[in-house]
Amino acid sequence: MRQLNIFFDVDNTLIMWDGKLRNHAKEVFEQLQADGHKIFVWSGVGIRRWDMRRHKLDEYVEDYFLKPLQDHHEGLKTFDVHTFPDFVIDDHKSVVDAFEGYHISDMADPDDRELLDVLEAINKMASEDE
Ligand SMILES: [Mg+2]
Repeated sequence: MRQLNIFFDVDNTLIMWDGKLRNHAKEVFEQLQADGHKIFVWSGVGIRRWDMRRHKLDEYVEDYFLKPLQDHHEGLKTFDVHTFPDFVIDDHKSVVDAFEGYHISDMADPDDRELLDVLEAINKMASEDE
């Protein structure tokens, strides 16, 4: 199984418009870490350590970056993102199109299980040959 660098967006991906954590976030972070993947959190509006700490996810996060909102690949260098994103989870399609990943819905209903689908997609990629 490959061990991947997994990059999560924050707003409307992990933290929804009402300030609440998306369903299943903690268990998915736990599982990813247990599987040996590295979790990174990036955002177009800043370093989000405090938000992750507030939601008790900080302990799972390897590092934080500012996310390029355009010219995504070139932007990695500009924003000093020193780890390549193997898999991104984002509600902005352009980010997912630029890398491998999962385009997540920005709407979360009370039964939202989308992060479990993310976990499944990551498992699938990790078990494929390079
Ligand atoms: Mg977002």
